[in-house]
Amino acid sequence: MNDAPSKLELTVLLATPRGFCAGVDRAIQIVEKAIEKYGAPVYVRHEIVHNRHVVERLKALGAVFVEELEECPADRPVVFSAHGVPKAVPAEAKSRKMFYLDATCPLVSKVHVEAQRHFDAGREIVLIGHAGHPEVVGTMGQLPEGAVALIETVADAQAYIPRDPATLAFVTQTTLSVDDTADIVAALRARFPAIAAPHKEDICYATTNRQEAVKAVAGRSEVLLVLGSANSSNSVRLAEVGRRAGARAYLIDDAEGLDVAWLEGARTVGVTAGASAPEVLVQGVIDRLAEHFAVQVEELDAERETVSFKLPRALAG
Ligand code: SF4
Repeated sequence: MNDAPSKLELTVLLATPRGFCAGVDRAIQIVEKAIEKYGAPVYVRHEIVHNRHVVERLKALGAVFVEELEECPADRPVVFSAHGVPKAVPAEAKSRKMFYLDATCPLVSKVHVEAQRHFDAGREIVLIGHAGHPEVVGTMGQLPEGAVALIETVADAQAYIPRDPATLAFVTQTTLSVDDTADIVAALRARFPAIAAPHKEDICYATTNRQEAVKAVAGRSEVLLVLGSANSSNSVRLAEVGRRAGARAYLIDDAEGLDVAWLEGARTVGVTAGASAPEVLVQGVIDRLAEHFAVQVEELDAERETVSFKLPRALAG
């Protein structure tokens, strides 16, 4: 007779869309194809995307991650990360006659172009974003020092004193909370009704879609598990959004980061992954849950994403 206690039932609600976005997919392919074409080592300035598993896998293939260009020998290819770089970086690479590949997401480059356009039109630019994030450093570094002011919160927006309120414009980081940013923009608009806004939202489609999907899942779950690394802005935002929607949300790198005690009393757990987290990690968490519970997986329906970006010419074909 088998008298082992039967497992408790647990519904796993999978958020859709989740995981890799087009910009991350392109950036990873750039490193992989560069190693294939030019051999190892290929240098990568900053983590290509903010995910520990992605970085470790690429290291094993022959990528060498550095923080500054000066750490790269001039005779090896170097890749700039998906977050974008200040203009000074490609300029330095050119002056050292280095071969570089730019994996900046085209949607980040679009923000760079917007900031430049405002600057050329003589506008004072406000960037809504998180201090120190490489995307923010890259966007601010498109223009001379002092041309872009960083605003992180509604309080910052309320306290901001422009040189000339009539010539203001704002741009944003691509991976912010949609709701928090709307509050900051509303605060800016209340004070500066003439402020020039992006033609189309700077927060990218992938960030927006993943936050929407997580709201739907978290509203029906006691616990939300977000696969992603702690330095991944969009993954951290997913956990925040889930918490606000009422779930106990945890950001974990992989199945090993899961503490089964978190699930005490839970009947439904939502699972999602940040834009830089591979899908295999999602399956790993489901497998780990299945060791402890009788798991039933349900995937919430959503429109599939069809965005994709071309590789740089040197690697295409
Ligand atoms: Fe590009 Fe958005 Fe992905 Fe960032 S999260 S790499 S901006 S698509």
